[in-house]
Amino acid sequence: MVDERTPGFALTFAHVVDGLRQVLGTASDVLVFTSSTTGAFEGAVQNLFSPGDKVLVVNNGAFGERWVQMCRAFGLEVVELAVGWGRSADAADVTARLVADPAIVAVIVVHCETSTGVVTDLRELGRAAANVLTIVDSASGVGGCELRADEWGLDVVIGGSQKALMAPPGISFASVSERAWRRHTTARMPRYYFDWTTTRDALRQPVPRTPWTPAIGTLLQLAAALDLLLDEGMAARVRRHVLLGRMARAGLQGMGLSLLTPESDRNAIVTAAYCPADVSAGHVVQAVADNTGVQLTAGNGDLTDQVIRLGHCGHMDPLDIVAALAAIEAVLPAFGVAAASGSGVVPALEVLRSDLRPIVDLQEGATLAVAQEVSA
Ligand SMILES: *Cc1c(COP(=O)(O)O)cnc(C)c1O
Repeated sequence: MVDERTPGFALTFAHVVDGLRQVLGTASDVLVFTSSTTGAFEGAVQNLFSPGDKVLVVNNGAFGERWVQMCRAFGLEVVELAVGWGRSADAADVTARLVADPAIVAVIVVHCETSTGVVTDLRELGRAAANVLTIVDSASGVGGCELRADEWGLDVVIGGSQKALMAPPGISFASVSERAWRRHTTARMPRYYFDWTTTRDALRQPVPRTPWTPAIGTLLQLAAALDLLLDEGMAARVRRHVLLGRMARAGLQGMGLSLLTPESDRNAIVTAAYCPADVSAGHVVQAVADNTGVQLTAGNGDLTDQVIRLGHCGHMDPLDIVAALAAIEAVLPAFGVAAASGSGVVPALEVLRSDLRPIVDLQEGATLAVAQEVSA
């Protein structure tokens, strides 16, 4: 293992911070922590608020629920905007809550609610909450969904290394706007490990560093993953995820399952579908894993045994979706579900076909490239 106080490691660390800025769409400082995403979130609560501050938390799934509980645990007054699972908050509802209660100082919202696959339109949300601080849980969204923290007015965006960023778990981070820094200076919540001032001071040393020993191995892996990501380019990456989402939805519906994740190109990270009434989602997940090695997951909370979730963020390509759909297709009849062979795979392939790059252009491009090479 390399030592974290060496100039070589500092270069890697600075490279990670710069890569995170690009995927988050921010020119501000990005603070990096050694913890899972929940740790960075706890840090945001500690660094932005004083006990008794009032916050609006959008709750549209398991993670929204987690932030409601966390804010209460820290003595915040929580106004909960409960939205049904499988839906995202209406921006007009958010504005109405804020107008009705001027004591609310911040809105907390989940970008991709991984428990349902629903991705919130953060451009609209940022606009709706323009007069207060916006805090976003983008644990699974960052690196897979379009994200423009500065342009959309998102003050604090929090994420982790292990979802669309394709690295192992262990590193979390938060972007912090100028407005959030101003709020931080008056926040009285006790904090130490996650203190933002301490973290920023270390980041701004001539040789940038973290205040405490970081998960060096994970940072090295995250640096490599960010290089892959930036080579592909965020725009191409977002397009790829949109295609994977379309294929997943088409395939699951083709097998006769009804979607929890609504039909929308935004929902490109994970796709959830209900199992038929008397079929256990947990058993389907187990059968798929045992027979094919494909790892799906069942639902969260009340939906635990009702839905199966197919994750498709990060290093996933169209044929991974085909394989996953084939795996589900293979086991469903054993549960008494009449899913014909090909009923999931074929609709997915049709989506892929409709999205092919124009063949003629490809051939002309290839001819041109050869011609240029020859003449050179
Ligand atoms: C994975 C995830 C988290 C983070 O959970 P940790 O276990 O703390 O990494 C938070 N929010 C969402 C939406 C997630 O998908």
